[in-house]
Amino acid sequence: MSEKRVKYIFVTGGVVSALGKGIASASIGLLLKKRGLNVNIIKCDPYINVDPGTMNPFQHGEVYVLDDGSETDLDLGHYERFLGRNMTRDNNVTNGQVYHTVINRERRGDYLGATVQVIPHITEEIKQNIRRPAKAEDEPDVVIVEIGGTVGDIEGQTFLESIRQMALEHEPEDTLFVHLTLVPYIETAGEMKTKPTQHSVKALREIGIQPRILLCRATKPLDESIRKKIGLFCNVPSSHVITAVDCETIYEVPLLFHEKKLDEYICKHLHLETPEPDLADWEEMVERIKQPTHKVKIAICGKYVNLKDAYKSIIESFIHAGEENDARVELIWVASEDIKKNGAEKLLAGIDGLLIPGGFGERGVEGKIESIRYVRENKIPFLGICLGMQCAVIEYARSVCGLEDAHSYEFYADLKNPVIHLMADQEGVTNLGGTMRLGAYKADIVKDSKSYEAYGEEHISERHRHRYEFNNAYRELFDNTTFKLVGLSPDGRLVEAIEVTDHPWFVGVQYHPELKSRPTKAHPLFRDYIAAAVEYNLKKSAPPKEDNHTVGVK
Ligand code: GLN
Repeated sequence: MSEKRVKYIFVTGGVVSALGKGIASASIGLLLKKRGLNVNIIKCDPYINVDPGTMNPFQHGEVYVLDDGSETDLDLGHYERFLGRNMTRDNNVTNGQVYHTVINRERRGDYLGATVQVIPHITEEIKQNIRRPAKAEDEPDVVIVEIGGTVGDIEGQTFLESIRQMALEHEPEDTLFVHLTLVPYIETAGEMKTKPTQHSVKALREIGIQPRILLCRATKPLDESIRKKIGLFCNVPSSHVITAVDCETIYEVPLLFHEKKLDEYICKHLHLETPEPDLADWEEMVERIKQPTHKVKIAICGKYVNLKDAYKSIIESFIHAGEENDARVELIWVASEDIKKNGAEKLLAGIDGLLIPGGFGERGVEGKIESIRYVRENKIPFLGICLGMQCAVIEYARSVCGLEDAHSYEFYADLKNPVIHLMADQEGVTNLGGTMRLGAYKADIVKDSKSYEAYGEEHISERHRHRYEFNNAYRELFDNTTFKLVGLSPDGRLVEAIEVTDHPWFVGVQYHPELKSRPTKAHPLFRDYIAAAVEYNLKKSAPPKEDNHTVGVK
């Protein structure tokens, strides 16, 4: 039996970063999947960190955790959301991992006698990593390889050189280079400029890569003459110069690409015979996102509110949940430190829900706790994620149970009442990379709870990324209160979810539900949370009921 020939699509980016290569790659993946192909996708990150787990979210954005516990680039979130398939550690390759493996091998003596060099040793290791998903049991037809960074970056050279070699090692119809670039509109000249794209493609061609398709990010569609010019200078047929115009929602991008025949060109080049993609459900979903009936305001109170990428999956989860509730979710970003300065009453006035996301470090924690008190007392829907749940425990212990000095061991070691403390197996951990409780863990949900109503089942599995836990020494403190432990690990030792019952919707979870929400299937907790926010909003804005007893009384 001849081995199946996997097709590779390499996606590179030029001119500037943040053009949306991840979304472009995921969109290509979706279109091919909808054509009946089995698609897998890899992100190559040129940095020297082994994974983004130790990076500041300000620099890197969210760390996206997979079921298998690997801490990966946020683009893997887009891949999971668009392709509806769970990624594994094989889907994210970093220069750090590659060098780590090669250097360990060298120390073991595996290269004995050889001088270990970028070419061939590093590039061989990269190629092996890129080929790994292709060899997976489910035998993908197509593997999309997104190269992080911008063409011309020194650190990205190893990956570009590796994919150049791969093109040489495969049949011409088995590899395809797609390049995403920017075509800026210069206001004062009233013109779109092609030069940055020309330069970027020139840089690629200098290292032996000829892109076959150009995706040009622009604020408005490129006209025929511009596409011809770009095609001519970049050695690409002008029909393959495709405008990637700004969209209202990222979920529209695959529809736009399909309209421009991108998937058709790809299949033709790769000799893939497939039916047209059936995009009906995707189109309906996009329509619902764009034209909702209701509107709710949700405040996100966190530390990194100036960098939205730090909360990427949460933002997406709200889009999914809004779509299922026929609602537009307007996010109000509140820096938790400002709550302490200006007061929750003032900063949270008019909201229909509060979300406290995950986080690390003491900065802004008192503001988070204060904002939780505000929504708990005012019966405004609340969802606390990870640190958000821990803050909800602290708030209730302080305000209702009278433990004024309740706090988390994460912030102070000499606490009298550490209601959140270190997990036993985390004590003594000094290495910070990959040492948290990471990845998918099972939990049991108590019937007769908002969480059970949402999930519709008792046994769930969710992804984690934390070091601290609810302190079991305080379980009794909450007995006979409205604070309930509604989710526990199967052995009953770890608290995974809490709820406050004298409240319309108050849920805190130790895990990260945002990592499992999908555009065609919102996460049940986000879905019900937004349903509660819509209800709260409608009640709030309903005209007061007429008082029959006073009407007409003289
Ligand atoms: N800092 C907390 C912990 O380590 C919460 C982590 C998080 O919110 N992801 O337990």
